[in-house]
Amino acid sequence: MPDNYRLSKGILIDEDTLQDRIEVLGGQINHDYAGMTGLLLVCVLKGGVLFLTDLMRRIHVPHAIDFMAVSSYGVGQRETSGVVRIDMDLRQSIEGKHLLIVEDIVDTGTTLNYLKGLLQSRQPASIKICALLNKPSRRVADIHIDYIGFDIPDVFVYGYGLDLDELYRNLPYVAIAK
Ligand code: 5GP
Repeated sequence: MPDNYRLSKGILIDEDTLQDRIEVLGGQINHDYAGMTGLLLVCVLKGGVLFLTDLMRRIHVPHAIDFMAVSSYGVGQRETSGVVRIDMDLRQSIEGKHLLIVEDIVDTGTTLNYLKGLLQSRQPASIKICALLNKPSRRVADIHIDYIGFDIPDVFVYGYGLDLDELYRNLPYVAIAK
């Protein structure tokens, strides 16, 4: 048992369950984008990075990847500030591309709502959202998520890309913080 397990109330989603669900999501994406060209996976850093690398290995439709970094939480805070800042933008034009935003978690929806609006203004052919975790009870912004890994309760989670004060993103499972 890793040391950091002591920081947590336990594992919410174990490694096998995560990987099985990502396999299913990959299958749905393969089905929905079959035969299409111009698919671009936009990973939202930093939390989405583990999810992206596992998901993209299950996507057999030709695709490119790119990254954006946004922040709406300060280090050490567990509540969204409601203000979204773009820390790193895409390095390419997305006009005419089919965008799939790959996000770690949707909480209030503020971040994705802002991001989707911003990307929409750049005239892609389509935009869909794929989020590993979803906290429906916390939603403030009215945003449609096309692919959801897991609906989870209103708890603060970390691991599998998600941080606890910038640490533990490397864990292969999702744990609940104390
Ligand atoms: P939203 O804008 O949907 O309220 O917040 C989205 C962002 O808040 C996520 O991308 C993530 O960075 C952070 N966040 C929300 N809930 C959690 C959580 O339970 N754990 C961690 N580590 N980050 C979270």
